[in-house]
Amino acid sequence: MVVSPGTRSPGAPTPSAPSTGAPPAGAVDEAPVSRALFDRARAVVPGGVNSPVRAFGAVGGTPRFIVSGSGPHIVDADGRTYVDLVCSWGPMILGHAHPAVVEALAEAAAKGTSFGAATPGEVELAEELVARVAPLEQVRLVNSGTEATMSAVRLARGFTGRSKVIKFAGCYHGHVDGLLAAAGSGVATFALPDTPGVTGASASDTIVLPYNDLALIEMAFAEHPGQIAAVITEGVAANMGVVAPLPGFNAGLARLCAANGTLLILDEVLTGFRLGPAGWWGIEGAAEGWAPDLFTFGKVMGGGLPAAAFGGRADVMGRLAPAGPVYQAGTLSGNPLAVAAGLATLRHCTAEVYETVDSRATDVAGIVATALTEEGVPHVLSTAGSLFSFFFTDAASVIDYAGARAQSTARYAAFFHAMLDRGVYLPPSGYEAWFLSAAHDDDALAVIADAAPHAARAAAAVAVPA
Ligand SMILES: *Cc1c(COP(=O)(O)O)cnc(C)c1O
Repeated sequence: MVVSPGTRSPGAPTPSAPSTGAPPAGAVDEAPVSRALFDRARAVVPGGVNSPVRAFGAVGGTPRFIVSGSGPHIVDADGRTYVDLVCSWGPMILGHAHPAVVEALAEAAAKGTSFGAATPGEVELAEELVARVAPLEQVRLVNSGTEATMSAVRLARGFTGRSKVIKFAGCYHGHVDGLLAAAGSGVATFALPDTPGVTGASASDTIVLPYNDLALIEMAFAEHPGQIAAVITEGVAANMGVVAPLPGFNAGLARLCAANGTLLILDEVLTGFRLGPAGWWGIEGAAEGWAPDLFTFGKVMGGGLPAAAFGGRADVMGRLAPAGPVYQAGTLSGNPLAVAAGLATLRHCTAEVYETVDSRATDVAGIVATALTEEGVPHVLSTAGSLFSFFFTDAASVIDYAGARAQSTARYAAFFHAMLDRGVYLPPSGYEAWFLSAAHDDDALAVIADAAPHAARAAAAVAVPA
């Protein structure tokens, strides 16, 4: 069965209520300054935020406005400090305001912030990326993960002369029109079946299939012979909560793509340079002997500034302007500040940093899993490398979006707020991964260990429909 991209009927109601920022009924407002800021923001910014999940719509309450961060901590506008398990959704792998990154930024800023001309730092960053990821022969720098996937898909279409793209339900590749169907992250959080503003024409070239099911992908290739330009998949699906590829899934994609003249785009915007020096490919692809044709990167490689990239086979990348006919450009692409932050971050991502992040992730996952088990809260701890998340579900495992959607979001909301009250800032949605940094030390873990039993009790107290 091929799940059609589906089109929203015009005027269909949006199935999520925007957050009002009001504290949950009966709760004390613990964040009056954030709340006042949210009120002001909602007057001038849609929903009060510049990216939907930040609005706390899935968990309720007042979104915290953050004024500073240092190491594993962030501080909100009310002066409360939290152990941060979001880490800007991944980029802050060294912790907040790492001295080397701050210094690199200050040095770069003093020399001028943008020239609209080539700079030496861009060459260094491209060389750094290419040196880390063996199949990556050439890269183009862009400003966001969205731009990277959008450009990679355009290039794949330009290279193959084909139109259709296969994506997987629950995977998120940024807010590219053709990739929003059944997307993860905020689209999952707000239960949007699709989004208005994406034309039928751009959605109809997207074939959405369940994650982790190679047989259905084989059928889709058979149904659309010679028409599929690209298959795009996350290194590890981590925008519907963490859902690891089943053994052989990514390798099978690479094999099917090669057999059908289709390009495989491995979206490592989230996993790249976070799960190891060569991302998820370095863990799985290098060991199994497969490679995608194109990669996309973002998050860690920008060190907290807007930098992202797409790249891969030199013969494919060679089709990009000005070397080839496929157009792609950017006023701020390769921006000196973003490049400086990215380079400083990558150069400090030593083997020791990855070992620390891995072991801290194991510790935090263990602490929380134990607390949930002790309170009898059914859950799945889902992991891939140092990425993990919890699904509050009775299922034994979660391998796709249908499984991820079976979680109790009400339980997650209760758990989230109990952690927040005790100084731990979790992703404000059960459809997101949890992120550690190398700066998460014993003190930070002690805060999490103190909070987890309370949060597990709060989750246990939420009745779930039988
Ligand atoms: C975050 C993310 C994106 C989008 O990146 P932005 O910089 O937010 O545009 C794309 N793909 C994946 C896998 C991501 O996690």
